[in-house]
Amino acid sequence: MNLMEKMEKYASDNYVPIARKDNIEYLKRLIEKEKLYNILELGSAIGYSAICMASVSDKVRVTTIERNEKLYNEAVRNIRDAKMDERIKIICDDIFNVDIKGKYDLVFIDAAKAQYIKFFEKVSNCLSENGVIVSDNIDLLDLQRLTDSKRSKKIVEKMKVYKEYLEKLDNYETEFLSIGDGFAVTRKKIKL
Ligand code: SAM
Repeated sequence: MNLMEKMEKYASDNYVPIARKDNIEYLKRLIEKEKLYNILELGSAIGYSAICMASVSDKVRVTTIERNEKLYNEAVRNIRDAKMDERIKIICDDIFNVDIKGKYDLVFIDAAKAQYIKFFEKVSNCLSENGVIVSDNIDLLDLQRLTDSKRSKKIVEKMKVYKEYLEKLDNYETEFLSIGDGFAVTRKKIKL
């Protein structure tokens, strides 16, 4: 079993949600095509998507944030095993405690679904001029993974509100893609 297969097995055995293969393929193509080499990820889990994104090119640098210590430790091990510790910086903290500096070509939002608007507000200033913000789980088709139905309903509602929020933003435009649980791809509007 190679490292990626081991990570997929760990995620499946331990109920850790990681990005689906079609989402990963989309992200990799986007990074390659648009040369989005400086990446910020919100929600590392075990480092699976960070490693996949960094595998596109040696030029890719990823900063990724994870608050769960157990998952963080697992991610650190995986990043080291992938020999990517010089290109993937992982921070163990709550996203809202991290002072995010610098500009990023790609921000991948894949953390607590109820807080996507706040995440967007936190990272939008860190986006480079031609940068892209990709938000995962915008459609949440695969709701079976969420056990408590009251909680599921709340999250679905929050994602609807987030979708409307993105649609109404004056300075950004968003494309909604039916990949996996749905990707929202947001870019700054070009000023004429
Ligand atoms: N991007 C990962 C992948 O595809 O391999 C999966 C990330 S998983 C869907 C979401 C992760 O975000 C969880 O591990 C969770 O602990 C973390 N998370 C959620 N809210 C967070 C917050 N406010 N600060 C830091 N981490 C957070």
